[in-house]
Amino acid sequence: MQLPLKLLESIKDITGFDKEAFQGVHESGEQVTSVRLNPFKPVKQFPNPPAGWAGFPIPDSKIPWCETGFYLEKRPSFTFDPIFHAGCYYVQEASSMFLEQALKQTTDLSKPLKVLDLCAAPGGKSTHIQSLISKDSLLVSNEVIRSRVNILKDNIIKWGCGNVVVTNNDPKDFARLENYFDVIVVDAPCSGSGLFRRDPEAIEEWSEGNVQLCSQRQQRILADVLPALKKNGVLIYSTCSYSKEEDENITDWLIREFSLDYSPLTIRPDWRIADTNKGYRFWPDKLQGEGFFLACFRKTAGDEVAVIKSRELPGQLNKKELELIKEWVETDTVNFVRNKNTVYAWPKNVFNDFNYLLEKMNVIYSGARVGELIRDKLVPDHALAMSSLLKINISKTEVSYEQAVRYLQRKELITGAVHKGWNLVTYLDRPLGWANVLPGRVNNYYPKELRILKDK
Ligand code: SAM
Repeated sequence: MQLPLKLLESIKDITGFDKEAFQGVHESGEQVTSVRLNPFKPVKQFPNPPAGWAGFPIPDSKIPWCETGFYLEKRPSFTFDPIFHAGCYYVQEASSMFLEQALKQTTDLSKPLKVLDLCAAPGGKSTHIQSLISKDSLLVSNEVIRSRVNILKDNIIKWGCGNVVVTNNDPKDFARLENYFDVIVVDAPCSGSGLFRRDPEAIEEWSEGNVQLCSQRQQRILADVLPALKKNGVLIYSTCSYSKEEDENITDWLIREFSLDYSPLTIRPDWRIADTNKGYRFWPDKLQGEGFFLACFRKTAGDEVAVIKSRELPGQLNKKELELIKEWVETDTVNFVRNKNTVYAWPKNVFNDFNYLLEKMNVIYSGARVGELIRDKLVPDHALAMSSLLKINISKTEVSYEQAVRYLQRKELITGAVHKGWNLVTYLDRPLGWANVLPGRVNNYYPKELRILKDK
């Protein structure tokens, strides 16, 4: 693996850089695999894990800066782990889980917050943020590239989120939400050198010119979105680039050009993260993780309150429909809206914000899709199966590992289900999706677009 000499030359004076060790760790071919567990979908420990079970958490493998992050001994086949499809964990690079410290150390997460994850696909940071904010908080998870929004939406649904709005907007569109957010996370598109160890082919694409282009784009994105941050709100900026132009120079530029104070974090020496006084750097030869940079800022200008004018309410359910929905959904914390026959659950406490966002932004998905009302019946949606809003007394059918994989491949099922009609298919008690049990056959309702295409 020949790292670009111009890159090595340009980073030689940065705190924590050790050329030999850095080159050595890239040549070693060592790969680090890590996952973050979903706190809302705890996994039972099994003494004899069935085949395909990722077999974690490994007790002494905790990622020190993230409560729910764990290193794995080796990379298992996530595709054939039903628990992965149930949304019990997210496969995520360890360094980027440092976002947890940035959030915890700058913000009172017990408060109701409005958070924006501006560059969100495929959803690693968004699912992490959602796990850390309170139930009364709201996360706007945005992705500008249309073709990447679906994977983001699918991951938000799989994580079981109910307080997330997925949008497909350009950063400059957020000027419509002036002084609105308490926290904005910009995990910026970058030149990607931090991931060279994992993806050596990316080395070919690296150039000084691209670093400059990325730096300019990062400035544009930040300048566009900053009006949406309220006074005293926190900006968290991160990249997976080693280049100063995309990291410390952006910190300098932000402080120079905007009303922002740099917010230092406390890091423990044994974490081996490098503090450059303009951000935190993750060197892969110092710690178990890929190259990463993160810096936090607090806005000192603007207003602390945004003015939200409510628009006309979206479609509501009539009494009979509501009675029907109540058989499926825990209704204490949510209200329902409908778009034609499709019913969505929106959290009561952020209902007006959901409505406001629907008017102002290009909303792709919000809350939890409950299902379709068809001829006085509900056809439940996959998102409801993934959500904690689902009533616990819904008929369930627990399946074996082999049947779970068949279900996820959308193949024919033999479940031995006793209850006719809609059944939640579960594996190790974790919902995978819906099946409709009819006399003599079981219809598999796992979404076609999510199915496992490979055979084992
Ligand atoms: N935060 C994501 C996660 O943790 O899974 C990874 C984000 S990735 C580093 C950067 C994202 O920025 C990509 O999804 C990319 O599509 C998006 N992006 C590309 N150009 C952009 C632009 N001009 N403005 C905003 N986002 C952009």
